[in-house]
Amino acid sequence: MQTLSKSSTLLEILKKLNIKENKIFCAGPCAVESYEQLYFIASELLKKGANIIRAGAFKPRTSPYSFQGLGLEGINIIKAVSTELKVPFVSEITDFKYLDIFLENIDFIQIGSRNMYNSELLKELGKIKKPILLKRGISATYEEWLNAAEYILKEGNTDIILCERGIRGFDNFFRNTLDLSSVPYIKQFMPIIVDVSHACGKTEFIESLTYASFAAGADGVMLEVHNNPQNSLCDAQQAISINKFEEILINSKKLLKALYE
Ligand code: PEP
Ligand code: MN
Repeated sequence: MQTLSKSSTLLEILKKLNIKENKIFCAGPCAVESYEQLYFIASELLKKGANIIRAGAFKPRTSPYSFQGLGLEGINIIKAVSTELKVPFVSEITDFKYLDIFLENIDFIQIGSRNMYNSELLKELGKIKKPILLKRGISATYEEWLNAAEYILKEGNTDIILCERGIRGFDNFFRNTLDLSSVPYIKQFMPIIVDVSHACGKTEFIESLTYASFAAGADGVMLEVHNNPQNSLCDAQQAISINKFEEILINSKKLLKALYE
């Protein structure tokens, strides 16, 4: 086992994000598409019980011809919606040249799967005072993933939540293979949530994998939700509707109560 510095507890991090509950229900579109789209989805999700909104402005896509996100314009839209609705947003940083902009505008900074190995970016994020969501690399072992977290911890930023988002397996029926064993293992060291959407990639399986994540002990989930899922500009095949999100959240709370209270 590698050296692992002490990290903050889930409750300490949630307090910094102004969240009063003890589970994360993070939901929102894969990407910011417009102010109207983001405002509508975020305000509906808040009414339904989401406590963090996700939205990508810089979208690292497999194909350079796919929608790449609105970039800085997207960050400005997130800031405007976040301020109006008074809700924390998580958004992915892809390059440390944007660090000042993220520091000014984004409450919870995501490091995506593709950047989990970017140690220079990790070191820079270790010097700041904002909570970090560190996703698992697509083929990262637990040791590599925890070492990525250590790059941040070592510099002094202890507010890190890890995010299981599936790994590449031998079967490509699902977008990735959801490794739920990571949840009880990683939870021994730091908080962990599950991004069910990227892990499975198919709308119809999001619900059962969300319940499975909570049953495994996850501190929360991240779900891609869209007001018009089929026409989402990014990851339409895994986006669920706002009503479906509400149903999943209500049932998850019942499950959590039955299992842990
Ligand atoms: C995302 O959450 O928008 C994303 C691109 O996920 P990942 O880095 O896990 O692929
Ligand atoms: Mn996505």
